[in-house]
This record gives sequence, structure tokens and C-alpha cells, in this order.
Amino acid sequence: MRTYVITGSASGIGLATAESLRAGGATVIGVDRRDAEVEADLSTPSGRDKAVADAVAAASGSIDAVIACAGVAAPRAVTASVNYFGMTQFLEGIRPVLARSPHPRAVLVSSVSVVHPYHPDLVEALLRDDEAEALAVAGAYEADDPTKSLIYQSSKRAIGLWLRREAATTAWAGAGIPLNGVAPGLVLTPMTAPLLASEEGRAKMNASVPTPLNHHQTVQTIADLLIWLASEQNTHLCGQMLFCDGGAELVLRGVDAYSFADATVATVFANAGAGQ
Ligand code: NAD
Repeated sequence: MRTYVITGSASGIGLATAESLRAGGATVIGVDRRDAEVEADLSTPSGRDKAVADAVAAASGSIDAVIACAGVAAPRAVTASVNYFGMTQFLEGIRPVLARSPHPRAVLVSSVSVVHPYHPDLVEALLRDDEAEALAVAGAYEADDPTKSLIYQSSKRAIGLWLRREAATTAWAGAGIPLNGVAPGLVLTPMTAPLLASEEGRAKMNASVPTPLNHHQTVQTIADLLIWLASEQNTHLCGQMLFCDGGAELVLRGVDAYSFADATVATVFANAGAGQ
């Protein structure tokens, strides 16, 4: 039986994932601020160090998969730390232990917000792994009402870019560890409950996350996907962000997700023609 470490295991998507895995007989080490095997605060470097050390100890040094789910949505600077460093440093901290598993897997939870508007300077500071600078930049936005909600979106975009940057490297793919992500749409959890409580809130959320397929999601829609990505069956997905969002990303980004390759394709055709 496999051993899983799940951050954010006390609520919402992380809790549903932990419960499903346990029901299937797996060992789950939950990591959360409360109600978890490992209680730690992923918003600080020392909290993250403690989370890694305690999770490895609780698993007796044998971990097959890590699911980084913990996150917060408040329009505050600390959101950048939890949603970005709470995932990157936790995953990196566990990685050496994970690599010893015969079938190691790592998954993180971003959001459909990865395609929403964002603060480029905050994303850039996060990707430079400069937490002090990221907190300073996010702190300035926190004090600036009209754009503070973009702190969350920036953190989710940064973690999405980190996933793409890291997954094919020797540290992950080279060590035989598929590293992938899930981008949920509007999932009914304690995080979204206050946002969906009023007519006005629902209208705002539905406008920013248009969902043509099956409307708002249950936690199980994401838990099932996380469990598959963390399973032995997932052998070849590498650095993929799976948008499980009822079509929101498709509506927002549009049909053409492939034009980035147009110049390359043109070159290939030109070269092929030149060779004939
Ligand atoms: P939730 O609030 O129900 O659960 C989040 C969990 O993370 C909680 O148990 C909380 O205690 C934990 N957590 C928060 N800060 C922490 C910290 N500093 N240290 C340790 N643990 C901490 O939220 P959810 O809706 O289940 O969200 C889970 C993930 O899914 C988040 O990363 C969120 O951004 C993402 N997501 C959610 C939705 C949605 O619609 N609910 C959509 C897209 C992405």
C-alpha cells in the first residue's frame, strides 16, 4: 500500500482526497495548521521546515506521493507565501525522500486563476524565490483595494509557471518523478462558501469562472483527479496543468492553445521544403 502526504488535509479538497485514499486502504499523512497528523504553518520558512521534517518522520522515511493542496484565498500578502512557497518548498523538501519510492508522484493544486489577470512583478518575485521581495510587493497591493484580489491569482499563476519550469528537470523527471498540477474551477468548499453566499458574490464568481459544463463542482471532482495523478498508473504526464473546471479555462483562453508553435511549424515546413 502506498503512503501519501497531503497538505491542506483538514478541509475541502485536501480533506476529500485524504478520506478517499484512506478508504482505499492507503496511509495518509495529513499536513495542516490543525486537525492533521502534522500540524505546521506553511506560511513561514520555519513552519515549512517543520512540516517537511515531521511529515518524513511520521511516514518513517517512506513516501510514495505528495499532494500539495493547502492554500488560502484572502487578498493578503501572506496568501503569496502559502500558495507559492507553501507548495514549492514543501515539495522540494520532500523530494529526496520521494525519489526513493519505486513509483514516486508529486501533484500540486493551482487554479483556473492561472489564466486570470495578475501582478507581473509579484509573479516575477515569486519565481525568483525571493520571499521577502514577494511579501513586500504583495503587501503594497494588499493596501491597494482595487487590485488586491490579484494577489491570489498571481500566486496561482506563479505556481503554474513553477510547475512548467521544474517538471522536466533532472530533479523531477530525471529522478523518475512525474510532477503535475490540477487547476480547479469553482469548487464548493469552505474557501468559496463566503464568496458564493450572496447573489452579488455568485454573479461575480460566475462571471470570472464561466462554467458551461455541469456548473459548480464538488470536492470529489478534484480529489479523484489528484488521486489518479498521484497513482502508479500515471507514468507519462509531465508538467501538465489539468484544468478540471467545467470549461472555464476553454472559455477564458479560447480555442487556440497551440499557436505558440506556429513559428516552429513554419520553420519545419520551410526546412522540409528546402530539403526536397
Ligand atoms: P479550504 O479552505 O477548504 O482548505 C484549505 C486548507 O489549507 C485548510 O485546511 C487550511 O487550514 C489549509 N491551510 C491554509 N493555510 C495554511 C497554512 N499556512 N499552513 C498549513 N495549512 C494551511 O480550501 P479548498 O477550497 O479545499 O482549497 C484547496 C486548494 O484548492 C487551495 O490551494 C485553493 O487555492 C485551490 N483551489 C480551490 C478552488 C475552489 O473553488 N475551492 C478553486 C481553485 C483552486
